[in-house]
Amino acid sequence: TGTLMAGKRGLIMGVANKNSIAWAIAQQLAAQGAELAFTFQGEKLERRVKPLAASVGSEFLLDCDVTNDDQMDATFAALEAKWGKIDFLVHAIAFAGKDQLAGSFIEQTTREGFKSALDISAYSFVDAGRRAARIMNDDGAMVTLTYLGSERVIPNYNVMGVAKAALEASTRYMAADLGPRGIRVNAISAGPIKTLAAAGIGSGRHMFRFNKAASAMQDHTESKGVAGAALYLLSSLGASCTGETHHVDGGFHAIGMPQEAPLRA
Ligand code: NAD
Repeated sequence: TGTLMAGKRGLIMGVANKNSIAWAIAQQLAAQGAELAFTFQGEKLERRVKPLAASVGSEFLLDCDVTNDDQMDATFAALEAKWGKIDFLVHAIAFAGKDQLAGSFIEQTTREGFKSALDISAYSFVDAGRRAARIMNDDGAMVTLTYLGSERVIPNYNVMGVAKAALEASTRYMAADLGPRGIRVNAISAGPIKTLAAAGIGSGRHMFRFNKAASAMQDHTESKGVAGAALYLLSSLGASCTGETHHVDGGFHAIGMPQEAPLRA
């Protein structure tokens, strides 16, 4: 615990349950003194998010599906009404239909599948970021979550890889727009972590095993490291860092060819 986020208020979007990356980030920020609001996607998830939020001293919960403009309006209106200003935004939201996340990218990707993946997984950050910036203090910051499938082909990640490429590009454009105000916008590219969203991707077991074997650290990515990176990027520690995609993946992204031995093991 510490005071890096003391006096700071912000919105966490994307907690579904205790395994959510957004939850690891929320706990880290709360431990540093941040005051948090949470969105949840529909009543079914409220049951799960409520006790988690309560455990970090928050009763500020907002029902918000990012494809619903009325709910987006209501969410940011509620933040402004209650707090006036905010200091940070955490965006940890992605979705693609299960039929889009297996097999051949060129064969499986439909117009509707493409649109909804890009809408929910990339545009929602632009949309939430614009709304957040209007009520954000000038030294505020935003963070989103991305994955290496944006830069390289990962089997079955398919249209989500395309959405993450759009998300990372959006991060840079947002950083340019908001930079003059002192607001920083960054993305964290996390290695595979066992969450609800990850379970939707075909051949998940292979992905986890291969990432462990072929990463520099030869271990799984821990959400603890992702949360630490978010704390750095959202606090004054991250001053001058913006428009960046920061990898927290045990060094998987840095390896061109893994050693033979760990892959055999
Ligand atoms: P998760 O399932 O816990 O979180 C995904 C969240 O997206 C859920 O809270 C869900 O409610 C929300 N969501 C989906 N569609 C929505 C909509 N229309 N409106 C509002 N919310 C919606 O899984 P996670 O792995 O913690 O995912 C968080 C982020 O991290 C995602 O962007 C994901 O792509 C990214 N990420 C995950 C991994 C991994 O291996 N788990 C790796 C890199 C990046």
